[in-house]
Amino acid sequence: MKSRVQSLKSRVEELRRRRNAVILAHNYQPQDIQGIADFVGDSLDLSRKASKTSADVIVFCGVRFMAEVAAVLCSEKTVLLPDLNAGCPLADTITKEKLCLKKKLHPEAIVVCYVNSPVEVKAESDICCTSANAVKIVNSLKNPEILFVPDENLGNFAASKTGKNLILWHGSCPPHVELRAEDILELKAKHPEAVVIVHPECREEVIRAADEVLSTGGMVKYSREIDAKEIIVGTERGLLGRLRKENPDKIFHLASELSPCAQERGEKLFCPDMKVITLEKIIESLSEMKYKIDVPEDVREKARRSIERMLK
Ligand code: SF4
Repeated sequence: MKSRVQSLKSRVEELRRRRNAVILAHNYQPQDIQGIADFVGDSLDLSRKASKTSADVIVFCGVRFMAEVAAVLCSEKTVLLPDLNAGCPLADTITKEKLCLKKKLHPEAIVVCYVNSPVEVKAESDICCTSANAVKIVNSLKNPEILFVPDENLGNFAASKTGKNLILWHGSCPPHVELRAEDILELKAKHPEAVVIVHPECREEVIRAADEVLSTGGMVKYSREIDAKEIIVGTERGLLGRLRKENPDKIFHLASELSPCAQERGEKLFCPDMKVITLEKIIESLSEMKYKIDVPEDVREKARRSIERMLK
């Protein structure tokens, strides 16, 4: 007899075929969602996949700004976000209106917009970036003034790597800024052989304590290729499942390794927005074709330019 989860997965499969849908999942999604996805990756991987898919429907298992990117790149397709509560507190730190005010203060600046932002903000920006390519994008710009929004830590990291002076927005990702250098140092003392990899949305002090600073896609690749047997990972805990599954011979420690009971409560490196999508909601989404992410044409056209400039 099929278990409840197996039945849900079969139902997803049936609907996926019926709708000619592709399911894209971010690396921070729960394991059961990653397990049924056609593709799992970071924002950059997922936007590339979305731009190339031949499916009629894209079910985006991530947060709203990611589904908006898919809607911008694939206007002829239906993009579904199974739960509209999947937001992003970092993206919420900025609006089109606030950005326009800032642009008035720096009329000569080119605007680089981290993909973790509302689509209207992308439309007012010159070029997008992800955590995987922020340094490359900033480095490629010749303008003396660069306004980088909305993640301050990623902007600081890009500035330190490129030697450029960036005008920064004071936004941050709550799960990543909770991580402290002492968490890393304590774990390093317990596991002296381990290498430390952290996400560039972490604080500067955390970045200084790490061996490598990588996007989640970069962490997946690095973990596969590195000889080290133990790795301390400073990013949202959802990635750990994928790393452990793909590298059964390696040991991964979450950078804020609390007591098992505290981990259950998800006190650190836990993004609640990344956990709202469930198999049941994907089924509902594909059955009722909800919730469609629509971007107004004028916004879409402008946002597409800044996203495509990044993808090129
Ligand atoms: Fe936003 Fe951070 Fe959650 Fe990503 S992990 S969705 S940036 S709050």
